[in-house]
Amino acid sequence: MPENLTSGYFNSAMIADSCLSDMGSQFFMIREATERFMMIAPSDQEKDSILFEGEELEVDGKNYIKCPLTHHNAAALRERFPHTAPVKIGKVNSFGFGDRLGNAGTAHLKAVRGSGFRPVLAQQSVRELQRTGRTASDVLDAATWAVFETGYSEGFGADGDHLKNEQDIDGMLEAGYTMLTLDPGEYVQGDAASMNRDEQKKALFDLPWDLLEETPEAFLRRVNGIRIPLVAEWILEPGEEEILTAIIKYGKVIAHTKMLADYIRRDYPAVDPELELSVDETDHPTTLFEHWLIASQLNRLGVELVSLAPRFSGEFEKGVDFRGDLSRFTEEYKSHLAIARIFGDYKLSIHSGSDKFGVYRAIGALDQGAVHVKTAGTSYLEALRTAAHADPDFFAEILEFSKSRFDLDRKTYHISGRVEEVPLLTELNETEWPSLLNQDDARQVLHVTYGSVLHSPESENRSFKKRLMNILIDHHELYEDYLLRHFGKHLKPFEQQQE
Ligand SMILES: [Zn+2]
Repeated sequence: MPENLTSGYFNSAMIADSCLSDMGSQFFMIREATERFMMIAPSDQEKDSILFEGEELEVDGKNYIKCPLTHHNAAALRERFPHTAPVKIGKVNSFGFGDRLGNAGTAHLKAVRGSGFRPVLAQQSVRELQRTGRTASDVLDAATWAVFETGYSEGFGADGDHLKNEQDIDGMLEAGYTMLTLDPGEYVQGDAASMNRDEQKKALFDLPWDLLEETPEAFLRRVNGIRIPLVAEWILEPGEEEILTAIIKYGKVIAHTKMLADYIRRDYPAVDPELELSVDETDHPTTLFEHWLIASQLNRLGVELVSLAPRFSGEFEKGVDFRGDLSRFTEEYKSHLAIARIFGDYKLSIHSGSDKFGVYRAIGALDQGAVHVKTAGTSYLEALRTAAHADPDFFAEILEFSKSRFDLDRKTYHISGRVEEVPLLTELNETEWPSLLNQDDARQVLHVTYGSVLHSPESENRSFKKRLMNILIDHHELYEDYLLRHFGKHLKPFEQQQE
């Protein structure tokens, strides 16, 4: 705690971990009723030139500036203290903490401390921004304030997730994101396997070969007959049919990725963000040859990836544990890793990573390669668990509303939860309501309806978000406990890998 600040005014309000000093000025956060502020005690020479906006006040004969947590102040803080700005994380274990409410960051940082994982805090897709009515800057600012509040100084990433085009990229890079997840999923040609030979020939020649910087003939010459040992028991040896089908299916995906990477290089030469490629939202699991093909082509085209998200086999449904054959997953994962190793040792990225405890144990036990895990909606569910505990009536209202919106909201998700299977609150004791957050159907119903609850005309009429945020402020210790426990469960299974 800085000297001379121990007056009664700050004693209870000051968040001790937040204290920073620079060139004689001191910065710290205070919590006042339901709000937080950044306090600055400027040095004499800085008094008149401070770049932060706020209200000047005097406490015990000393001058302070009481700064609201605005975008202007967050940007100025990032400028002044580089550890509050996002950095590139690199090819080391990392964990993505999506925070749709913008208030879970401090718990995320406390959870990740000592785990060996590096945090990616501001992780939000364009779809999530639309559904929550937030901007890329809002999300990054929330991360900056969480870093300031906790005093975390080891560096965090910011991931613009599932970006489809130049406009999506602009939004993230202008806000200062350091990692971009490119999602060219809409360019997958899903009918490639069902074409006859003539249709395949035509489709092959119709691919954008100028962008692929090769001719179809040269491609076939290069790839036909390859034989790539992956792991001891597995050699990649695709037949002609498989090669043709894969290049038709993913040719435009590769070309679009290359085009976006060129765009970033050309328009944002100073930024040079980390790039992840995600093909996890496709209809079928990514085969090993498809992964090899995508990676080898991008490598040839000079697109460097920090991570790649294949669609693994088995079910990675939102908010619930992995459903499928874990030993098969492990074998497949090892082979995917072997491919990643050939093309620059990028990380494998696990999307819809919330609550996939079996998968974490499998990866932890493997002790190979680096992994990136993405979680997004699971923190919102912990917020609802807090609400169920602190204000059961409010929780009941949210649950009822979510159930009514489920059929519509589930459409963009691959999930199997059913409203009819959600236990009825009337059949439970009120003290048991938080346990609904352990029931898979209830989790999925609540998980996919976040947009309707947080940002829809009806939710605004009923002030759902405002009421939820107030509950979480009033019960911030309980909320943090739930988050810490929950993410502890996510990070612990990997520990085998770090020892
Ligand atoms: Zn994804």
